[in-house]
Amino acid sequence: MIKVVKFGGSSLASSEQFRKAGDIIRAEDDRRYVIPSAPGKRYANDSKVTDMLYSCKEQADKGEDFSQILCNIRDRYEEIVRGLGISLDLDEEFRTIGDRIREGVVTDYVASRGEYLNGLIMAAYLGIPFVDAAEVVSFDEDGDFDDRRTDKRMAAVLEKLPRAVIPGFYGAKPDGTIKTFSRGGSDITGSLVAKAIHADLYENWTDVSGFLMADPRIVKDPVPITTITYREMRELSYMGATVLHEDAVFPLRKEGIPINVRNTNHPEDPGTMVVESTCNKPRYTITGIGGKKGFASITIEKAMMNTEVGFGRRVLEVFEDAGMTFEHIPSGIDTFSVFVNQHEFEPHEQQIIAGLHRKVRPDMIELESDLALIAVVGRGMRRTRGTAGRIFSALAHAHVNVKMIDQGSSELNIIIGVENRDFEAAIRAIYEIFVVAQL
Ligand code: ASP
Repeated sequence: MIKVVKFGGSSLASSEQFRKAGDIIRAEDDRRYVIPSAPGKRYANDSKVTDMLYSCKEQADKGEDFSQILCNIRDRYEEIVRGLGISLDLDEEFRTIGDRIREGVVTDYVASRGEYLNGLIMAAYLGIPFVDAAEVVSFDEDGDFDDRRTDKRMAAVLEKLPRAVIPGFYGAKPDGTIKTFSRGGSDITGSLVAKAIHADLYENWTDVSGFLMADPRIVKDPVPITTITYREMRELSYMGATVLHEDAVFPLRKEGIPINVRNTNHPEDPGTMVVESTCNKPRYTITGIGGKKGFASITIEKAMMNTEVGFGRRVLEVFEDAGMTFEHIPSGIDTFSVFVNQHEFEPHEQQIIAGLHRKVRPDMIELESDLALIAVVGRGMRRTRGTAGRIFSALAHAHVNVKMIDQGSSELNIIIGVENRDFEAAIRAIYEIFVVAQL
């Protein structure tokens, strides 16, 4: 078995956390390739090293003295090295970083040093080879990620190494310039390593025991999800529940490599398995509940719209012309609503109303704002009768008025629109009926 293990920032924020990660890696021989993030927050108001590196570069760009902040960054690493009791001299590394910042090196280089240094420490601590991500993760001249080249180079290098540490978050362009992924991108590196070496499992170690069935800020102690499919995860993550970087999912999905999301602080918890498909029967009808506030709806009413060829297209064209995407388009015989992100809509409001009048000559346009969308997701819903009925009776009991319903054609999700102020109550009511009532 080959397991690729990625540790997030909070799992490597201090020497104490590093030790936990080390114990986890050593506990299984199959955990052969390690992808570290940069040190994250040790406590709520702490700073992530990546953010400190960005500030350092910003200060340098303004011509200000950045030595203090670089010193603070160094302190973070020195604490880890000291606490682990390894002999690793970071003098030379920090001198190079300081010099390169002074020479005006690109921001991505500076940001990437968080992972790079954590990689050096991890390799020294475990006593296994360090592979600089700049050698194996490739971007093209324009800075776009080069999937094929990365796969080839990564496989060629790692084939010869039964174990290695590869820092997350960055790679390099053909001329050697460092380039990072978007924030949280160490997950992507982890998935690329897993893909290139055909790993059996990609373990993503973080500070939560996998995905929870609902947001713990809304529902008290929500039940963890044991198994979730990639499609279910997409539905939930689009509704705000993100544990993994979106772009990390596709390389793995293509190869059918499962992801196990685990908690560094509770390695005894099994975490969540993310799989392409499974015959593992979910314990509950629903897999999870996600949601987001801050939507607006634009409802267009026009008698006989259903007989008008191209009506829907013309409506959507108005949104397209404003450069806007839409979330949902529930429609009735003489009505057509478009749900959009309120924040994005506001600057285009008048342009869109005028556009609609011009293009479809509606009888009436009604706008509603401060709406929330809730996604009830679950592969188990397809087989179960009455899911929608249960959702609506739960919401009625909780005195929540349902503004919109949309069942995805895959029968994998039911989207419910409510007012922002009913958002939490609605999620609690749905959770109660599907989970608490079944416990
Ligand atoms: N350190 C980077 C960030 O803070 C990447 C990562 O942690 O995945 O975004």
